[in-house]
Order: sequence, then C-alpha cells, then structure tokens
Amino acid sequence: MSEYPRVILAPQRDVSVRRRHPWLFSGAIKRVEGAPKPGALVAVHSFEGTFLAWGHYSAASQIRARLFAWDKRDAPEMAEFWRGRLERAIAARQPLLANGDTTACRLVNAESDGIPGLVVDRYDDVIVVQYLSAGVDARRELFNELLVELLHPATLYERSDVDVREKERLAPRAGLLYGEEPPDIVEIVENGLRFGVDVRRGHKTGFYLDQRDNRTLLRAAVTPLNAPTVLNVFAYTGGFAVYALAGGAAGVTNVDTSAEALRVGRANLACNGFVEANVEDIEGDAFTVLRELQTQKRRYDVVILDPPKFAFTQGDVKRAARGYKDINMQALQLLTSGGLLFTFSCSGAISADLFQKIVFGAALDVKRDVQIIGRMTQSSDHPVALTFPEGEYLKGLVCRVVR
Ligand code: SAH
Repeated sequence: MSEYPRVILAPQRDVSVRRRHPWLFSGAIKRVEGAPKPGALVAVHSFEGTFLAWGHYSAASQIRARLFAWDKRDAPEMAEFWRGRLERAIAARQPLLANGDTTACRLVNAESDGIPGLVVDRYDDVIVVQYLSAGVDARRELFNELLVELLHPATLYERSDVDVREKERLAPRAGLLYGEEPPDIVEIVENGLRFGVDVRRGHKTGFYLDQRDNRTLLRAAVTPLNAPTVLNVFAYTGGFAVYALAGGAAGVTNVDTSAEALRVGRANLACNGFVEANVEDIEGDAFTVLRELQTQKRRYDVVILDPPKFAFTQGDVKRAARGYKDINMQALQLLTSGGLLFTFSCSGAISADLFQKIVFGAALDVKRDVQIIGRMTQSSDHPVALTFPEGEYLKGLVCRVVR
C-alpha cells in the first residue's frame, strides 16, 4: 500500500469518512504525501495514521477525493475491482429490462453505485457514458473496455459535455468511443411506449430517464379520470404527454422553449399511434405562457410542471424559490376543482421540505385548497446510497385541488 500517495486527515475530521460518505472535502485534509496526479488512487488515513478508505484524488476540486472502498484489502487499481462494481450495478437493473417493455434505463448511477463520477445509460443497444470526475476520467480506457465487454453494445457514446467537469478541471468531451455512430434518433421503449432519443444533442444523455416512474404514476392517475385535459409545462420531448394520452387524456397542451424538443415530441406521439390526438404545442417561456393561458381563461384537469434546475448552488435558493412559487401559482389557477398538479423540482439545493413550503405558499396566495396525495422522487434506476443523501435531487408532489 505504501506505493500509493496518502491523504492524511486533520485531527477529528474522520467522522464523515468513517460514515462512508464518498466526498472528502479539502478542509478535512491535513496533508497529502506523494504528489498524486489528477485522478490518482490515494489511501486516506486518519490523523493518527489508521487506514480509512481508498479514493481518487482531484487537486482542482473542493471535493479533493472521491472515496469508494473502505476495506484496505480491496485492490481498487485492478480491472477486476471495477468489473465487479459495474456487474453489480448492471445486474440490479436487469429486472427493469427483463420483459422487453422497457429498453432504456440508467445502468450506473455514480457515487450511489460505488463508482464516483461515472454515469452509464442504456438506450436499447446504444450505451451513453459520462465521465464526470478526474478519477473515472483517468481510467476512461479501462471503463470503455469493461463496458464493451459486459454490455456488447452496438455503440458506446460519450456525453461528458457538462459543466460539472469544469470543477475537476476537465474539458467537455463528447463523441463515439466504440462501435457504430449512433443513429440520429435512437428508438427506445419505456413501459410499452415508444420514444425517439437524440443521444448526440439531447438533454442529459438524451432522455429524462429519472422521470420514468413518475410518468407511470401520471398515466395511472389519468386513467380513472373522465378524459381529462392535460397541460404539460416544460414538456421537452413529450414524455408526460405520451403517457397522459396512453392513460386516456382527451387532449394535451405542451409548453417548452425548445422548438426542436417539441418537434421530437410530435414524432413521439405519432409513433405511439396518437396521430389524430388533440395536441397543442406552445413554443415559449412558461412564465409568460402560463399567464397568457390564464388571461384566456383556459382550464385543465391535470397540470405537470417539470422545470429545469433553477438552483445550482445554495446561493441560488432564494431566487429559485421565487421561480418555483410563481409557476406553481400560475398552474394552480389554471386547474379545475378536483384537478391534479404534478409538480417537480430537480434542484438538489432545494430540499423536499422547502419545496413543499413553496407549493404551500403558492396555494395560499392564489386561495386554493390543496392536498398532497402523492410524493415522488427519481426512478428506481437512479438509486440513492444511504451514505450519500446528496444523490437525491428530484422531488415532486402530486397535489389535488379541492376547490
Ligand atoms: N418533462 C420532461 C423533461 C423536462 S426538462 C420529460 O419528462 O422528458 C425541462 C424542459 O424545460 C426542457 O425541455 C427545456 O427546453 C424547457 N425549458 C427551460 N426553460 C424553460 C422556460 N422558461 N419555459 C419553457 N420551457 C423551458
């Protein structure tokens, strides 16, 4: 072990490491021995000199090391170790993919799957990978090989073109890693419904896989209603719209700033047979469009609010809270009595508790009586390790407007 650089903690700064939190912040470190390169394997020791964990070093980031093994006997520089971690994560998703009703999901969810910084998503036989930390970036060749060996994909494609890499002083990267260039639109099935995914240019790795379980919940909520009208705000490529129509909605209004997303959404409706469906697309800013719909006295039985991240840091929380409150006020005013609001926040900095308070404030201001009838989080293929509560970012409420 002596051949590996060591990170020695400051006195009494070992609690979080002993609790197996995967992030070691710079402030907890007393000194570093052996000049580790970006992404290098380091052995973390307490001030007293006890071995605590293995981690990957990143001098550029406030998260100075990402920890992933707490047993000294592990040999975390071996391909065997990482193959084991990947196999475990992939196997956990097999039940989801087993019956062919769903061909896309997250296979590896970074810290929560014991591989800090690595995201792997499956879109049928196209695998999309994100290397988000110095540790996995330094081992990209190894991970590429292991993923090809374990998954036999037609395509392995990289979408590490995300801002978080800057914090690790890594440049954005995207492109083909193995196999054939992906088709312009990769066809996937999710709970028996068809979607086209643009893995080159789409958001995240192409699709909001984290909303799958919530889309299922929406369909189940719509089905017993009597042909409800649905307003799908921040629609992207119409995930919720397709599920709403599959559940028997009479019509859907999609709102999004992206004409391209709405266009793909149209195609998604068509390939599910909803060609004649009563669907309206409004390209525009939700903050304005919701007000216009209110002016027109439009009403809906179900409203979905799935905005992009409003808060990136703690410093953004106040401004973000105003944004969330605003759209929730508008949505509540557009709902019929007995109507349902599916409202989300994907900002990690906004806690579930705060989010509920924001929706409460919105209901109070627009004088509507509202009940919570369901709570939502990210889908099961985006697990949250108990040691890593930061892994939970998506929260949502299903609300019923009493009157
Ligand atoms: N509900 C979608 C995901 C939504 S992602 C799904 O299940 O797939 C957020 C979407 O909001 C993106 O498509 C983005 O284009 C859109 N968007 C961002 N800011 C917006 C704004 N101010 N008004 C309307 N749409 C916006």
